[in-house]
Amino acid sequence: MTTYSNAPEDYECPFCQVVSGIERPHHGTKQRDIVYQNAYVTSFIASKWWPNNKGHVLVVPNVHFENLYELRADYATEIHRAAQMAALGMKATYGCTGISTRQHNEPDGGQDVWHYHLHVYPRYIDDRLYLTQGYPTNPDDREPYAQKLRDWIAAWPHR
Ligand SMILES: [Zn+2]
Repeated sequence: MTTYSNAPEDYECPFCQVVSGIERPHHGTKQRDIVYQNAYVTSFIASKWWPNNKGHVLVVPNVHFENLYELRADYATEIHRAAQMAALGMKATYGCTGISTRQHNEPDGGQDVWHYHLHVYPRYIDDRLYLTQGYPTNPDDREPYAQKLRDWIAAWPHR
């Protein structure tokens, strides 16, 4: 049913596993990376970082939509609310001076996980986000960022 699907037939979706509380030993994201979850969406610190934009967030729908082409409007609304929350939390706790979002569809669009996800990056002057490459991180490096955003979001009156 997926429009323009690129996922293999037997795809074990890592983001569906994050949403449902399953941790795989060899997969990056842990439950303690999650900074916000409601009935529609889950936000977590990305396991892959960019060198000058550490602690960026991924927002995913709790239902498996592969890409933007099939994303439902009620989920899209909640995804942007969660992105706004992450952005304001980063502004308040990371000391960043800007925010960028990115979202990729299909291999030629740079997609590499077959479950819709929106990247929310903290930005800094001359950070070269679009000129640098991502690299894998370990959960202990992510924890201080997750803690900051979790605490900020939990205290945010408009969530
Ligand atoms: Zn999925």
